[in-house]
Amino acid sequence: MIIDYLYGFIELKRRLYDLVGIEKPNYLFICLDSCRYDVFKQANAPNMKAIGQLKQAHSFACFTPSAMIGFLMNFPPIGLNISRLYPYKKWAWLPVELHKEGYKNAFFSPNAVLPLLDLNLKGSLLKEFDVKEFIKYDKETNVDEIVKDALSFFNENELIYSFLLLMETHTPIFDGEKAKIPYPIQNPKSVFDFQMKAVEFIDEKMGILFDGIRDSGRKTDVIITSDHGELLGPVQWGHNPGDLTFYNQSRITYSNELFEIPFIRGTIN
Ligand SMILES: [Zn+2]
Repeated sequence: MIIDYLYGFIELKRRLYDLVGIEKPNYLFICLDSCRYDVFKQANAPNMKAIGQLKQAHSFACFTPSAMIGFLMNFPPIGLNISRLYPYKKWAWLPVELHKEGYKNAFFSPNAVLPLLDLNLKGSLLKEFDVKEFIKYDKETNVDEIVKDALSFFNENELIYSFLLLMETHTPIFDGEKAKIPYPIQNPKSVFDFQMKAVEFIDEKMGILFDGIRDSGRKTDVIITSDHGELLGPVQWGHNPGDLTFYNQSRITYSNELFEIPFIRGTIN
């Protein structure tokens, strides 16, 4: 009942904004796959950190597809004192809600799991995305090409929701020079540093994306976050629940570092 009331209030507010002609923002959602909060906090990432205040949040999932489903159902990570990511229905499918409002939706990622899941679901997962690019991003690092595609999508459409799932921070980690498969040959500190360099590398590219958006003068709501954290050893590695060691032991156990993620929100005008 209370939820219905609050939802009604948010809807009313949005409709009033529409009526008085307040500009609808574009939405840019940037997810750094597997990026830990402590890594992001320590990284020299001036472009992303200039977007808004860095907050620590907790993910509702510890592996990618389950986190994606949550974000696409408009759920915020835990601990941000917000009830939803965007002023649209929660529990609904955000791309559908955005389509109703005249948005064009895009998903850009080298992550192979999402197109595979989409295939298994006979196209249901991604059909509301007007543009979806996955398999063409087949290099060690793809963020340059994703920035180019995201800017084209931005410039070719009036109202956009763009979801960037970037993989440089995911193992194999691209540290700005080459992709590294860190486990289990390095120590946790070196893997921490690999991921930090990946954040810094991504940050340079985000600077180009943000400048392009800024030059357009169009109001854009930007969220920068992660889907989950990562265990960096020395005993527990990775983030996927079903992964086993050579001796059939789980490679992960419940840990804060699996769920602590960065969250930044701000507006580019
Ligand atoms: Zn992930």
